Amino acid sequence: MRSLIQGKLLLVMAAVLIACTAAARKPIKTLIITGQNNHNWQVSHVVLKEILENSGLFKVDIALSPEKGQDMSNFILDFKPYSLVVLDYNGDSWPEETKTRFVDYAKNGGGIVVYHAADNAFPDWYEYNKIIGLGGWEGRNENSGPYVYFHEGELIKDTSPGIGGSHGKQHEYMMLSRNDNHPIINGLPNRWAHARDELYDRMRGPGNIKDLLYTAYSDKETGGSGREEPLIFTVDYGDARIFHTMLGHCGETIDNNPAMQCAGFQVTLLRGAEWAATGKVTQKVPADFPTSSYLTYRYDYMDMAKDKKKKK
Ligand code: ZN
Repeated sequence: MRSLIQGKLLLVMAAVLIACTAAARKPIKTLIITGQNNHNWQVSHVVLKEILENSGLFKVDIALSPEKGQDMSNFILDFKPYSLVVLDYNGDSWPEETKTRFVDYAKNGGGIVVYHAADNAFPDWYEYNKIIGLGGWEGRNENSGPYVYFHEGELIKDTSPGIGGSHGKQHEYMMLSRNDNHPIINGLPNRWAHARDELYDRMRGPGNIKDLLYTAYSDKETGGSGREEPLIFTVDYGDARIFHTMLGHCGETIDNNPAMQCAGFQVTLLRGAEWAATGKVTQKVPADFPTSSYLTYRYDYMDMAKDKKKKK
């Protein structure tokens, strides 16, 4: 009798193990939208794809738009196959059909990553601005919504008039945690040094931040706002899971790209992306995560790709 129960238990355990392994093997279907940007999208989308796929968690397709100024009417996207959409696009308007499908995707609980200058896009598209929470440039001003910044333990919404979006000169800066318990950043250091990057400031928008994860102080000495700026957060938009990172200004070449090579950028992106797609984070905190006293880089995506091949 005992052996029968033990046998059954073993079978159940084996089934669970197989189910877990199968789940672990099934990558998150991801779509990166790119093709127009005031940034170096030719490099950034390749780097994003490498970061995501080298983790073993994601399988990435690319939606490449026509060039700026070209006919956009055939840029019709199908979001249904995807659990994650990564926005690396700042350019001409999408066709109405694509806009409607994207809003439907979000409202139906889709996972979205808003990456860097994607929050510059579409200043006049109401729903898009609700999806990004905060945006900058492209004519944004007090009509776009309040300034949102962190002051004395809370998020301030400041309706004073002025431009939306600016940044001082690129520099290294300290990221400060504002929500230790959120699964995206649970276990990560409360303070960590981010590699040389732009520090977006004076962003404006609906300001529907759900969970503020990290801020950084934008020093006037570097041309900043003198405020504690919200740089990484999730957005409150119905059932959607939206991860917004303002980090990761793309360098000129794949090798000279410190903001995207920063292990802190990569790890927060990966954790935010997994959370956006699944609502959970299964990734362990890696040993190379930066601390408050040292920067860490993942230099070469190509090496990572080679290592992956070697393992096979
Ligand atoms: Zn930039």
